[in-house]
Amino acid sequence: MNNQSITALKGVGDAISKRLARLGIITIGELLEHFPRRYEDRSTQCKISQIRPGGVAAFTAVVEKGELQFVRGKSIARLWVRDETGLAVLVWFNQPYRTKTWKVGDRVLVYGKAIWFRDCIQIESPEVENESAQDSFNTARIVPIYPLTQGVAARVMRKLIAAALQSVEVLHETIPSDIRKKYGLITRDSALREIHFPTDWQQMKQAKRRIVFEELFYLQCALVYLRNQRLNERRSFQHAADSDKVQRLLELLPFDLTNDQIEAYAEIRKDMESDKPMHRLLQGDVGSGKTAVALLALVKTVENGLQGIMMAPTEILAEQHFQYCSELLFRVGVRSALLTGRVKGRTRNELLAQVKAGEIDVLFGTHALLQPDVLFLNTGLIVVDEQHRFGVNQRAILQGKGEVPHTMVMSATPIPRTMALTLYGDLDISTIRQLPPGRKPVVTVVRSGDAAREKVYRYLAMEVKSGRQGYVVCPLIEESEKTEAQSALAVFNELTATLLNTVACGLLHGRMSAEDKETVMRKFVAGELGVLVSTTVIEVGINVPNATMMIIEDAERFGLAQLHQLRGRVGRGAEQSFCVLLQNPADGEVPERLKVLVETADGFAVAEKDLIIRGPGQFLGYRQHGLPEIKMANLADDAGLLVEAHEAGIALMKDPKEVNAVLPYLKHRFERFFGVLFAG
Ligand code: ADP
Ligand code: MG
Repeated sequence: MNNQSITALKGVGDAISKRLARLGIITIGELLEHFPRRYEDRSTQCKISQIRPGGVAAFTAVVEKGELQFVRGKSIARLWVRDETGLAVLVWFNQPYRTKTWKVGDRVLVYGKAIWFRDCIQIESPEVENESAQDSFNTARIVPIYPLTQGVAARVMRKLIAAALQSVEVLHETIPSDIRKKYGLITRDSALREIHFPTDWQQMKQAKRRIVFEELFYLQCALVYLRNQRLNERRSFQHAADSDKVQRLLELLPFDLTNDQIEAYAEIRKDMESDKPMHRLLQGDVGSGKTAVALLALVKTVENGLQGIMMAPTEILAEQHFQYCSELLFRVGVRSALLTGRVKGRTRNELLAQVKAGEIDVLFGTHALLQPDVLFLNTGLIVVDEQHRFGVNQRAILQGKGEVPHTMVMSATPIPRTMALTLYGDLDISTIRQLPPGRKPVVTVVRSGDAAREKVYRYLAMEVKSGRQGYVVCPLIEESEKTEAQSALAVFNELTATLLNTVACGLLHGRMSAEDKETVMRKFVAGELGVLVSTTVIEVGINVPNATMMIIEDAERFGLAQLHQLRGRVGRGAEQSFCVLLQNPADGEVPERLKVLVETADGFAVAEKDLIIRGPGQFLGYRQHGLPEIKMANLADDAGLLVEAHEAGIALMKDPKEVNAVLPYLKHRFERFFGVLFAG
């Protein structure tokens, strides 16, 4: 990395460097890693006579005449240019200097969008460059299109990056040459030059491949390093084989575990019975019964004289875990408690004292558990639910609450294998694929039009009359929580005045105070409310088995994974449940996403489809919390590359000499993301 400030470049003063800082560009190295978002092929030249209005054109011509006109105080600069086939006029509004830049007889390269105006081809605000200029960055080539910021125009950005490339003779190589050879990667020097100003598409692809590989490779190295460090250098408490308490819990559970649950627990048990710290992801579709598996592991650690911690992303969820588990725990002689932001003052102090003294065996809670004064006597196991809602660093803080605790994280959003490699390269994975028996798959339908909508709500009212409950999810509105809340309120008002006027309804949205949210949620859980009208705030893990109907307004606005999560709120009891996707406008074609939901109930299949439909960038973004941004890696195209990078990372990190050589670089590169882990 070139850590020289960009102000070392010619023409970069205070003003520009401040603007570039907004894009996170301080050093020349960072400027060089400001990659194009896309490219425009301006290399194919045509003759003026071949230009079609409405299309873009690139051509070479000679300046014939310039003219500056003023209309109502505004200037129009025109430049007539000609080649052997015809005449074209270039036009700029309010840029009077344009006519002065060029002299009659100059040979210029032109690129821009053509229109037909007064019997002549006219090009508005074109890019124009001198044909004899040494380097052309804006015309007559494949031109990079960059993310920009106010005050840094596209052509300025290109010039700066070209200057940065020129300022360094040969760019520092970061991948060992044998790895480069093995995977057919071009040098970093040519990759960076070609990614910005490609000679042709082929070279651009090679450059991209190399850069993506590098990103993935070092991420894999970091993950492998963390994993090795954990396995080789740190010792965790070695649990004894299962005994009375675990046995008793198994007997107390009101159901038999599914085979997948048994297997997942067996993997966890095995990890805990070794002295290598467990670091395991338990993934399973919504309702697959992850909590029971976590509970067994928590009891196991208590049976070994240690404490367990279970963290959830919301108060409601933490509370629900506590309610579900504390009774069972009590009956096997395990003392548990709940710590959320609501626990304050003396109660909190007393609770913390008990925890520290080891008088509480299992502590449930939210982020509140992360506070520095929450101390334990001896932590054996940490469980993090809905782990994608937390960052890597939060996980690390929690791990710091024990000597070297075993850790398990849970997620209801199954991750395709290639993704799992990148995101969770440092985790082992257990998967619950099968749902508990007797579950009826949620019947999912798409409906549209007012008549159908009315029928759906009448059905919901009937379900409520016969003692069931339902959710209505309001349209997703991207702009703001405020407008989203307003739309939820509007839907609530409409429904309670009309179709649901005989039903007890509650409203839930992100603009309500935490307390109001809790109150509504609690009433719904207690069955005092028949219908919960809500924004997507109900997405996360709530379990109300009596709820059998989920109606999603304007379903086409939601993403596939999100719809699947929402649908997972129903179908949790023995009754048949329904999910109605209301589509708007009525005459639109049913989008692929909605079809997928109608056809499949399997979260894994949904996740794979989601990856294909949305593309990996967004898929990653969704649960990327706390992981390094992968700037370039398009994993759908690059699944093979990911596997190669993974393999290369593992190979490199096997050699202690290489590890020592690469470690400072890894620390530097990932310090922001893995700081706590690397330090530990
Ligand atoms: P999730 O994996 O989404 O966290 P939960 O752990 O909340 O799912 O379980 C969902 C529901 O399934 C709970 O009501 C739980 O009691 C029930 N459950 C879990 N395991 C089984 C099983 N093996 N048989 C029957 N019901 C089960
Ligand atoms: Mg859960």
